[in-house]
Amino acid sequence: MKEFSPGPVENHRGREAGAVVYPVYSRRSKGLSVGINLFPDRKVCSFDCPYCEVFPFQTDLRFSLPVMEEALRGILAEAAERGIPLRDICFSGNGEPSLSPDFREALEAAGRIRERFVPEAALVIITNGTGLLNDKTFALMKEAALGAMKLDIWLKLDAGSPAWYEAIDRSAIPFDALIGSIRKFVPLAPVTLQTMICAVQGREPPAEEEAAWVRLAAELAGSGGSGPGRGPGVQAVQIYGKARPAPEDPLAEALPQAVLEKRAAALRAAIGTSIPIEVFP
Ligand code: SF4
Repeated sequence: MKEFSPGPVENHRGREAGAVVYPVYSRRSKGLSVGINLFPDRKVCSFDCPYCEVFPFQTDLRFSLPVMEEALRGILAEAAERGIPLRDICFSGNGEPSLSPDFREALEAAGRIRERFVPEAALVIITNGTGLLNDKTFALMKEAALGAMKLDIWLKLDAGSPAWYEAIDRSAIPFDALIGSIRKFVPLAPVTLQTMICAVQGREPPAEEEAAWVRLAAELAGSGGSGPGRGPGVQAVQIYGKARPAPEDPLAEALPQAVLEKRAAALRAAIGTSIPIEVFP
């Protein structure tokens, strides 16, 4: 098992060494988070974000459910022994977790372990949302978010317009198809929207992108009906900046905090204060 030495995430090189389960202090979780990485052997993702922090690597390791379960139980036991409260168990890692063939089983196993050892901790998936184009994954995520597992879905919404989506997410999946699936999903299940704001090729998101993103985020925020409280719909919005190195630096660059705050203020002006909008520079 990886040594228990959680610290602020400076970069993700530890994960690239093949860790399946790893403790970190997470700025967005505001405390200890235990990450689960379904891709210890290579990056697997349907996006190719220029700000992506996964450095090129390859190992001979394969994901193994028993290894994941044992490592997770070990880290939880160690955190408990040291009296460190756990904020969440989080599926993230080297790519898009929902693309893994082990996703369902790993999610269910993590849910069971959370329930038994740390029922107060959240179970989170950080996803780019492309799994929602697959009916089975759509149903799994919905069921996991609404049911006893109470999965917190942190759903990427980096762009409000096809042009910025092309620049910041560089995916082969068409923008309209992805947004269509997100539009279907949000009224059915609780989600947290998460948006990276950074410059790409020296260019900030242009004014028309900001306006399109605000329109789309406001539409999604209004589509669940119930606001925060685990009913379907948008529970919170996270606007975050580029804080760590990426292999393609300086293709994507951090922007001043004021740019992120301005975006948050624009959304607040559109939807009011019923949904928390947080900025993580
Ligand atoms: S969605 Fe996440 S893992 Fe995939 S390329 Fe973007 S930042 Fe990297």
